[in-house]
Amino acid sequence: MCVLKKICRIRINVRLILIFLFLFIGISYGNGETVFEGKRAFDFLKKQCLLGYRVPGSAASLRCADFIESELKKIGIPVKRQSFRTYSQLQGATVTGINLIGDYRGDSVTSDILALSAHWDTRPIAEKDPDPSMRDKPIIGANDGASGVGLLLEMARVLKERRYPGRILFLFFDLEDSGVSGSFEQWCLGSRYFAGHSLKEYPITAGINFDMIGDRDLKIQPERFSLKFAPDMMREFMDLAEQKAPSHFNKNRLPFEILDDHEPFLRKGISYINVIDYNYPYWHTQEDTPDKCSPNSLQTVGNIAVEYIFFRWKKIKNNP
Ligand SMILES: [Zn+2]
Repeated sequence: MCVLKKICRIRINVRLILIFLFLFIGISYGNGETVFEGKRAFDFLKKQCLLGYRVPGSAASLRCADFIESELKKIGIPVKRQSFRTYSQLQGATVTGINLIGDYRGDSVTSDILALSAHWDTRPIAEKDPDPSMRDKPIIGANDGASGVGLLLEMARVLKERRYPGRILFLFFDLEDSGVSGSFEQWCLGSRYFAGHSLKEYPITAGINFDMIGDRDLKIQPERFSLKFAPDMMREFMDLAEQKAPSHFNKNRLPFEILDDHEPFLRKGISYINVIDYNYPYWHTQEDTPDKCSPNSLQTVGNIAVEYIFFRWKKIKNNP
C-alpha cells in the first residue's frame, strides 16, 4: 500500500513536470520570432514551375499572376496589378505585361519605403542551351524567375508576422527577361515601366532586387552597378552576408555588371542593389529546373535578407 502510494505520487509528479514542460515549450514557441523557412520558399518555386512557362502574355503567365496575388492576400498584404502594353522583341509582338505591387505598411509612421523585388516572367527562348534544337524553346526558369518570387513570398510572410515597423513594397516585375544580347533597352521592361510611371505614387527610398538566388551551389559576390551607384548599401549587405555565410558570399570577389531590375531605379538616383548568383551553368538553358536549386540556398539568402532589413530599419530610426 505504502509502496503503491509512493509510485502514484511519483507518477503524478512526473505528469506535473511534463505538463509544465509542454506549457513552457508552447509559450516559448508562441513568443518566438517567426523564422524564414527555405522549404516554404522552395515550394513556391516548384509551384511556379508547375504552372508552365511564364512567358509574358501567356495563359501560364496569367495563372502565375493569380498565384502571386493570392499568396500575398493570404498573408494579408494588399496587392495591385499594374498592366502595360509593350513590344517584346523575343516574341515579335506587342504584349500586355503585369507588375504586381504588394504594399505592406507597419505600425510606424515613416516616409521610408523599402522595395523588395524579383522578376516573375520566364525567358521565351533558351539561347544558351547546349543543344541547338532546344534554343528556340522557352525555359521553365526555376532559378531565373521562380527563385526570387519564392524568396519574396516567404519574406512577406516573415516580415508581416514579425511586424516589421516600416513600409515595404513587394514588387514582382514582368518582362525582365525578354531582351536580346546587345540591345540594352529591351530588358527589364516591367521595372522600367514602374520606375518611369509610379515613383510619384510610390516614392521608394531604397530597394533590393533578388534574382537567381536558388542555385544549389550558391556563390554570391557584389554586383558592379550596385557597387558603383549604391555603394553603402551593397557593402553593408555583403559585409553582413559574408559574416553570416562565408562559404556562400564573398565581398572581395571581382564584381560583374548585371543589367537587372535594379538598374532603372539606380538611373533615378535611388539606392537599389541586386543580389544575384550569376555563376549558374544552367542559365538560359532547358536545364534551369527545380533540381538545380535548393531550399538551403533560399534559406541562406532569406535569413540574411531578413536580418539586413531589420538592421537597416534600426539604422534609420537611430539616424532619422
Ligand atoms: Zn534570365
